[in-house]
Amino acid sequence: MIEVPALELEDIHKYFGAHEVLKGVSLTAHKGEVISMIGSSGSGKSTFLRCINMLEIPTSGMVKVHGELIEMKKDRSGSTIPANAKQVERIRARLSMVFQSFNLWSHMTILQNIIEAPVHVLKIPKKQAVEAAEHLLQKVGIYERRDYYPGQLSGGQQQRAAIARALAVDPEVMLFDEPTSALDPELVGEVLKVMHDLAEEGRTMIIVTHEMSFARDVSNHVMFLHQGLIAEQGAPQELFNNPQTERLQQFLSTSY
Ligand code: ADP
Ligand code: MG
Repeated sequence: MIEVPALELEDIHKYFGAHEVLKGVSLTAHKGEVISMIGSSGSGKSTFLRCINMLEIPTSGMVKVHGELIEMKKDRSGSTIPANAKQVERIRARLSMVFQSFNLWSHMTILQNIIEAPVHVLKIPKKQAVEAAEHLLQKVGIYERRDYYPGQLSGGQQQRAAIARALAVDPEVMLFDEPTSALDPELVGEVLKVMHDLAEEGRTMIIVTHEMSFARDVSNHVMFLHQGLIAEQGAPQELFNNPQTERLQQFLSTSY
């Protein structure tokens, strides 16, 4: 049996006005794979990640989630837009994103944050959603903070809560955009530990990160973006130990 990839993006281009930020980037993620994206600031990592779940609409290119093609069309001004808003909503619900800035709802407790999508989007009965949320809170090590508000937690605890929230919809793929970049250095480890455990459990993850040793340890595949193109990619051992391009050599010499 041929396994359908969890995620396939082909030849993604993205313009902001006249500025071509992505110049033909492709990616295939099979179930259980962890793919890290590295590259200097402005190389297009976040834009590409956001094209996966249609937070940015690719100007051209193909996105398939578990074999399902996201349908696109041109609007009257000639811009590419999703043809089917319902499809985007449904698919986005299966692609949880974890942001640099946590993005928890500040007026809700941690538990409420986690059960929000399961109860209101997936229509899971509240009692069942609470039980699942408590299990996730234990998993990320903040069960005792369940009734606190985000502002009462440390950055590391907030990010672990955001990961629990992302997990609560049992996502097809988890997308991480520099999840530790906003944290004080002493809090980075606790978040990476949770992500490391998820990788070991076989979660499919796409991770934009500046944590090179983490990328080397957890990834099956690493992509190095430079000015909107994949300048180099491969297995982490090869990429980090034996970079082929001068660009990557330069990048790594300033990133460790
Ligand atoms: P990275 O995440 O690798 O730092 P980004 O994807 O955020 O890079 O940005 C790539 C380029 O796209 C940058 O030049 C940035 O200024 C530009 N860009 C990103 N988002 C927008 C936007 N919404 N409008 C205009 N330009 C943008
Ligand atoms: Mg970014």
